Amino acid sequence: MDNFVGYRCSLCGAEYSLTQVTYICPQDGGNLDVIVDFDSIRKECSPDSIRGSLDYSLWRYLPLLPVSDPGGYGTPLRTAGWTPVYYLTRLADDLGLKHLWIKDEGRNPTASFKDRASAVVVARAREIGAEVVVTASTGNAGAALAGMAAAIGQQAVILAPKTAPPAKISQLLVFGAKVILVEGNYDAAFDLAVEAAEEFGWYCRNTGFNPFTIEGKKTAAFEIWESILPQISAASKALSVFVSVGDGNIISGIHKGFKDLAALGWLEQMPRIFGVQSEASCAVTNAFTAGIEEIIPVRSTTLADSISVDLPRDGVRAVRAARQTGGQCLTVSDEEILQAIPELGRVGIFAEPAGSAAYAGLVKAVKTGLIAPDDPVMVMNTGNGLKDIRSAMQAAGQAPVIEPNLSALRSVIGHD
Ligand SMILES: *Cc1c(COP(=O)(O)O)cnc(C)c1O
Ligand SMILES: [Zn+2]
Repeated sequence: MDNFVGYRCSLCGAEYSLTQVTYICPQDGGNLDVIVDFDSIRKECSPDSIRGSLDYSLWRYLPLLPVSDPGGYGTPLRTAGWTPVYYLTRLADDLGLKHLWIKDEGRNPTASFKDRASAVVVARAREIGAEVVVTASTGNAGAALAGMAAAIGQQAVILAPKTAPPAKISQLLVFGAKVILVEGNYDAAFDLAVEAAEEFGWYCRNTGFNPFTIEGKKTAAFEIWESILPQISAASKALSVFVSVGDGNIISGIHKGFKDLAALGWLEQMPRIFGVQSEASCAVTNAFTAGIEEIIPVRSTTLADSISVDLPRDGVRAVRAARQTGGQCLTVSDEEILQAIPELGRVGIFAEPAGSAAYAGLVKAVKTGLIAPDDPVMVMNTGNGLKDIRSAMQAAGQAPVIEPNLSALRSVIGHD
């Protein structure tokens, strides 16, 4: 908290003190970057002290976060982050890659990457004494806020499109948040959450609006730095990180994490960041491909609900994450996203469509030569497949139903 100095607008560069603003730049609506004091962080901790931490959650990085310790020991709030990383030789062989890791964010307490953001926003809410936290969500951000808030007895209000997958809505309800479904898409829920926060004095967690979400999300970069980068020799090519993009806040958060580490002098080589969108929701990729920073909304129709966004709220920083690291933004079709679900399934990873999209992006990048065989690659699976079993069933097909006898079994397994 002592390391938290203020905010800087990502568009006009204007700086603000802690008390001057809460969400976005009052002049141009730009997303605010939290400014942290790297000198004071370096005094407080070192790579060695972090590596020695026995806190196996994102809270091991507390000295690098702009919040003070939120307490909540022994609750799910303390278990967000520090997700498993798999080294997948079979998938790597299939793709002709030397090194492939997948980080399974579906293993967070509410089963998506969003727990990182919500944990830190809940800590911020506690710090400023917010009574109610509200968010718009396609499902996961809401589930994460509801879960993290429930963990420490914080009130939460969630506005989601009524078309959100039932599993996600059930999470919201079970965690005891006030859940309101809107007749409309995520963008409509977004605007309503902003208005409601203003009207009722609630603290708004909206992605690409609240500057603290990215501060939580950057912890994924810290984990990659701590656990994977030491395995890549300094002589090797930079790690390529694949991540799916909706609002563009996860990719921006991962970029911010690596930038913080570089500013601290703790990063030898900046990873390349690849943003993957569905062809049916591709506003960020359009801007990237056109070489501009203006984000022009599209009408999203992708089945990958977590990355279904008309107007990405963190699009400018998302484009920069790919551009400034020598990465790319690319799109895949919804068919490719669905196909990727059982491909990950075959090595024991269950992804929701927005998670498998990142892997589908890697498959395409290998095919088109964007990724070479000796590029070390990390794919982020951002959400658990149980979040959306309709898409999973669509991807995996049906099981045969038989009479319970051996001859019927023989005929379906081809043992005649
Ligand atoms: C929210 C989400 C994304 C996309 O994150 P943005 O910050 O909106 O780009 C990707 N995958 C899953 C599972 C998500 O919940
Ligand atoms: Zn500005």
